[in-house]
Amino acid sequence: MFVDQAIFTVKAGKGGDGCVAFRREKFEPKGGPSGGDGGKGGDVVLAVEDGMHTLYDFRGVATVEATDGGPGRAKQCHGADAPDLIVKLPPGTLVYDDLTGALMADLKPSDRVVIARGGKGGWGNEHFKSSTNQTPRRATPGAPGESFRLRLELKLIADIGFVGLPNAGKSTLLAALTRATPKIADYPFTTLSPQIGICELDAMRRLILADIPGLIEGASQGAGLGLDFLRHIERTRAIIHLLDACPADGSGPAANYRTVRHELSRHSPDLVNKPEIIVLNKIDLLDPEEVPEAVRSLSSELDVDPRQGVIAISGATRENLRPLLERMWSMLHPAGGGVEAWKQPA
Ligand code: GDP
Ligand code: MG
Repeated sequence: MFVDQAIFTVKAGKGGDGCVAFRREKFEPKGGPSGGDGGKGGDVVLAVEDGMHTLYDFRGVATVEATDGGPGRAKQCHGADAPDLIVKLPPGTLVYDDLTGALMADLKPSDRVVIARGGKGGWGNEHFKSSTNQTPRRATPGAPGESFRLRLELKLIADIGFVGLPNAGKSTLLAALTRATPKIADYPFTTLSPQIGICELDAMRRLILADIPGLIEGASQGAGLGLDFLRHIERTRAIIHLLDACPADGSGPAANYRTVRHELSRHSPDLVNKPEIIVLNKIDLLDPEEVPEAVRSLSSELDVDPRQGVIAISGATRENLRPLLERMWSMLHPAGGGVEAWKQPA
């Protein structure tokens, strides 16, 4: 299935070194040893962030490093312990030691795992005072922090799957939406199927979109790749049903809608019950004044509310893609978006 991957090195902080110092007070010129201990180096902590769904944020990250503990100082001052470095990861991330291949963590919701421990602080010379040695000049250095090269893997589940007959324009739409943001273009989808893409509506809002090809070609009988893709789309939260406004074979969008719904329902009733947006695509092939009528007639044939049910776009000319994205977002986040998810009656 679709696997998202990231590789980077984590380095915990080194402990602070212990200090060699002696008390030098006004009436105590030869005071005892007073060098303090070093502070502990920072841990690297993996913390599961429930809203995260991809390892996208780690593209280009080579190393994450916690800070070192502070050195001990004179007058028995201990060095400061360094703060932990928190790395936020999505639930479901598998964390491997890249060197040995060993599984280090399988992150579940709300998990926090110390993946690399910071080094202990060294001892200052006050620790080495004894009856035979009143003036120890010895202190120990802080211990090094742990370091690992991590390989992270996450099975990517699309938020929204695209269904439709071959040639409905699914691949074109996916390319248009996921290339719309320049950041997306250089995302290394090396281990991903090309049929999945990440779309950033803005800095805070991200959608994972999957094109589900081969649905109709006997998919529900398990032919070819179809069933794998159906399993994947079963775990998506919503469906975009893409319809060609002018099918080359002379069929109509409403008839094609029913064909695909029939295929979906044969495979799984769950699939049919997913929230869905019906999208009339390729409207660049129509006269602009024909578009409202095309939407109206499709809506009435399918018996849906045209204001909620059908949105007209062109993947090729990118017309209306922004409203489509906003519709997708508010379908998945009804509270924030204000628009209730619209459910297609079975
Ligand atoms: P898929 O089989 O559903 O993935 O469809 P494709 O994205 O491969 O598109 C099938 C054909 O329709 C290609 O020749 C596309 O260039 C064309 N196409 C896709 N979207 C549009 C569109 O919005 N307008 C027009 N005029 N052609 C489109
Ligand atoms: Mg395609």
